[in-house]
Order: sequence, then C-alpha cells, then structure tokens
Amino acid sequence: MLKLKDVHTYYGNIHALKGINIEVSEGEIISLIGANGAGKSTTLMTTSGIVPAKQGSIEFKGQDITHLPPDEIVKLGICQVPEGRRIFPYLTVAENLDMGAFLRNDKTQIKEDIDYVYGLFPILANRKNQVGGTLSGGEQQMLAISRALMSRPKVLLLDEPSLGLAPIIIKQIFSIIKKINEEHNTTIFIVEQNANLALKAANRGYVMENGAITMTDTGENLLTNEDVKKAYLGI
Ligand code: ATP
Repeated sequence: MLKLKDVHTYYGNIHALKGINIEVSEGEIISLIGANGAGKSTTLMTTSGIVPAKQGSIEFKGQDITHLPPDEIVKLGICQVPEGRRIFPYLTVAENLDMGAFLRNDKTQIKEDIDYVYGLFPILANRKNQVGGTLSGGEQQMLAISRALMSRPKVLLLDEPSLGLAPIIIKQIFSIIKKINEEHNTTIFIVEQNANLALKAANRGYVMENGAITMTDTGENLLTNEDVKKAYLGI
C-alpha cells in the first residue's frame, strides 16, 4: 500500500534519511523504533509531504506521491498525527474535529464520524465545548487522533503517541489504535521511542539508526531479538 524506496531527506547539510526502504501493506500496524534523532519523525514527515525527499520515491497504492503537497497527500488518505499533538489550543474540541474534516463536504457522514470518535473517546464528548489547550495531555492525544480520523484516513501516521503520558493513558490509547485498525481496516504506521509498547502492538517493525533502517522483522521476533533487547528494551 505504501512504499518508501531508497528515500533520502536533508535538512540543509544534515543527511537525516540515508536511503531508507519501508513497505506497509493494507491493514497492517507497523512500528518504527529507534533512539533520539535516528530519523523517525523525518520518515513520517517525508511520507506526508511536509519535508521533501531529495532522492528516492514514495508510492501510495501504486501512485507516486513523492512530490505531492501535504494537502493532496491527506486527500489521498494519508493523515499524520504529529509529535506533541499540535491540536488547535484556542478552538474547542468540537471545532478541532471540524478542522479535521475541512477537506470534506459530505455532511451526513461527517456527523457519523464525529459520533464514532466520541464513541471511541467518550471523554471528548464530555469536553466538546472545552478549548483544546485546557485538555490534559492524554485528552489532547485523543483529540489529535480523533481529528486525524475525521479525514477518514486509509493510513494513519502516528508520531510518538505515548510521549509524556501516564502508563494507564498510554494503554488506553494503544488499545483504541488497535480498535481503529480492526474496525476500519485502517493501516497504521507508528513511530515510537517506547519500543516495547510499539512492537507489542505491531504486526511488523523496523529499527532505525542514524538515518538508516538496520533491521526489520515481525513485532514478535524483534521483541525477542538480543540486539533489540539490549539497545531498546533495556533488558
Ligand atoms: P526523536 O525521537 O528525538 O523525535 P527522531 O528519530 O524522530 O528523534 P528526527 O526528529 O527525525 O529524529 O531527526 C533526525 C535528524 O534530523 C536529527 O539529527 C535532527 O537533529 C535533525 N533534524 C530534525 N529536524 C530538523 C530541522 N527542522 N532542521 C535541522 N535538522 C533537523
């Protein structure tokens, strides 16, 4: 469904992605793990067109999307939940969700999708008139995921969904991520520093070091791989 082929990305002189290859099949949950600064966020931002690839190609359902602008990529069905959530702090929960549907004009289905996300995260329904900036970190993450769902994505790109959240909230968010994947066959690509959590949730995983992919396998096999255990699981 999504193919990154020999992708190179630069920030000025910094060579952040050094020829990475990643394939994501429809309906899969894929996790990309790695240390700080390995290039995980850059991988997502290059996929969603926010940071341009300098070399290589990105294909979505057979279409070359390498040089498409971010809004066109969202329209095709790839939506990113950025690191640090980046919800609109001065807009209410309901208005944030409306913003997630800004490329759509199918009002009836939009209403259905709002009900669906409020069903996934009932706390957001209780807070629908509250401005985003006053929500807790966990609620903001729920809102960021919900806002992305309002674009009806085929692929959801999640950048560090666990960042800064309490373990119980992280567990809740990961179980909802699985539910979204199962109920809508939404393909999910997660970038995480919390390798244990990310690999447990994933069908397959990729390990990234210094801008390159160094390992790929099933989530299960990576969890028991000695190098991964030592470097990323603290075992
Ligand atoms: P983290 O888990 O800490 O977010 P990461 O694996 O997501 O790290 P990236 O944020 O993709 O890593 O960064 C990859 C490299 O690119 C790092 O060396 C980083 O310093 C550099 N980099 C990232 N964003 C920029 C930018 N806007 N300008 C210059 N360099 C950048």
